[in-house]
Amino acid sequence: MSFFSTRGGSCVTASQAILRGIAPDGGLYVPAMFPTVSMAKISAMAEMSYPERAVAVLKLFLEDFSIPEIDRAVRAAYSPERFGDPAVAPLKKLDDGNWVLELFHGPTLAFKDMALQLLPHLLKMSAEKNGENREVCILVATSGDTGKAALEGFRDVPGTSCTVFYPLDGVSDVQKLQMVTTGGSNTRVIAVRGNFDDAQTGVKELFGSEEFIEEMNRRGKTLSSANSINLGRLVPQVVYYFSAYADLVREHAILAGDPVNFCVPTGNFGNILAGYYARNMGLPVGRLICASNRNNVLTDFFHSGIYSTHRTFFKTLSPSMDILVSSNLERLLYEAADRDGDLIRVWMNQLKECGSYSVGDQRREWMESMFYGDCADNKDTLAEIRRRWEDNGYLLDPHTAVASHVLHQYRLSNGLDDTPTVIVATASPYKFAADVLRALSADSGETDPFTAGEELERMTGVPMPESVRRLRELPVRHTAECDRDKMGEALFKSMDL
Ligand SMILES: *Cc1c(COP(=O)(O)O)cnc(C)c1O
Repeated sequence: MSFFSTRGGSCVTASQAILRGIAPDGGLYVPAMFPTVSMAKISAMAEMSYPERAVAVLKLFLEDFSIPEIDRAVRAAYSPERFGDPAVAPLKKLDDGNWVLELFHGPTLAFKDMALQLLPHLLKMSAEKNGENREVCILVATSGDTGKAALEGFRDVPGTSCTVFYPLDGVSDVQKLQMVTTGGSNTRVIAVRGNFDDAQTGVKELFGSEEFIEEMNRRGKTLSSANSINLGRLVPQVVYYFSAYADLVREHAILAGDPVNFCVPTGNFGNILAGYYARNMGLPVGRLICASNRNNVLTDFFHSGIYSTHRTFFKTLSPSMDILVSSNLERLLYEAADRDGDLIRVWMNQLKECGSYSVGDQRREWMESMFYGDCADNKDTLAEIRRRWEDNGYLLDPHTAVASHVLHQYRLSNGLDDTPTVIVATASPYKFAADVLRALSADSGETDPFTAGEELERMTGVPMPESVRRLRELPVRHTAECDRDKMGEALFKSMDL
């Protein structure tokens, strides 16, 4: 299996695509064709463990990896030490016709672990396959969740290291605590005096600085990134769509071949895109419901065919979905454009220069046959957390609540679609305990996340994950701080310690 760039150029192997992250022409790597999985194979997955399902799907994309290599990586990534639930991605019944796929049992309690636990192993092997024997140094700028997920993924993976830059005044207390208490001998966390843009611009400058790259070289290291457009983050996400379907078959909730809808809380479009890839591989997916918060640029896109960033940016209760440019959408556009890289380049240039592009009615209708977009504001989100708790005894986090609200509206307005539907749950409610508590008891003014978590546990009986409880006692291991124009120096200084 080879991979093309969405902007027309290059044809590379899976390991090259993973090592490079982004194509030299600025495009994203996409499979040359979609491998197919027969209904018999999907049914057989019902009897498999999550790691076995992962091998069955990943081997179709990662052709220059051997099956034992994939198997080893998958078992290390989804081990019981790292995932708090033996099923890894358990499927829970919510009510008649609706299920929840829980993707938050990894070390950082959010769905990014599903990919970032595996990526380091894939990246390390990709380096070796391409004659790269230097240490692979990952640099990440984070506004919160991705940083911690990357640190936990790369922690103590031989031949790699991970450095995270976070804005001193731009992450929540829990997020900061999660990062600065990270263990491992190959992790570094550095606070940047500035906001998220400062940290992100700084990292981009390091990637573009010859001087910095030379010094890295001299130290026997090479740079790489772990952001969500990397193919090595996309393919692990395809697995759990198959896994959820196989679980529905095993539970006799559906017959093999029946369609299933998925409703996905969406930001950068990586998660839901993996569902679309699963559909292209033969998984009987009905509708992919794309749920946004108040930053509803995708809702408007699916309704109008026009993607426009001329809008106000809102901070919401679902911060990981506060995004105006959904970078993984480019991979769907590529299919909508009949794989015409020139057309993608035109649209992406329009986006860069004018802040918008239009795909036209025909392509919009084609997308609408598979996708449905809608959104929920903060009020809807809090009301949905309360409704699901009171009606179903299920505790949602604010991101998943956005999806649950959108699904509820979808069912009301599309009365004929009674297809069984899986809500993809992306974070543990205990990651956002103060907001979830406020949803259940409006008069709670508790803002301390730990106290709010304890109160939430008392109220609901839903157990608080151990990793949250422990966080309060873990020693702070990372205290470095630097100015925005001294990030490279700060990194070398911490390497020399
Ligand atoms: C990253 C994230 C999302 C958005 O996922 P995308 O792949 O960017 O669409 C949703 N919820 C949570 C909790 C996340 O961390």
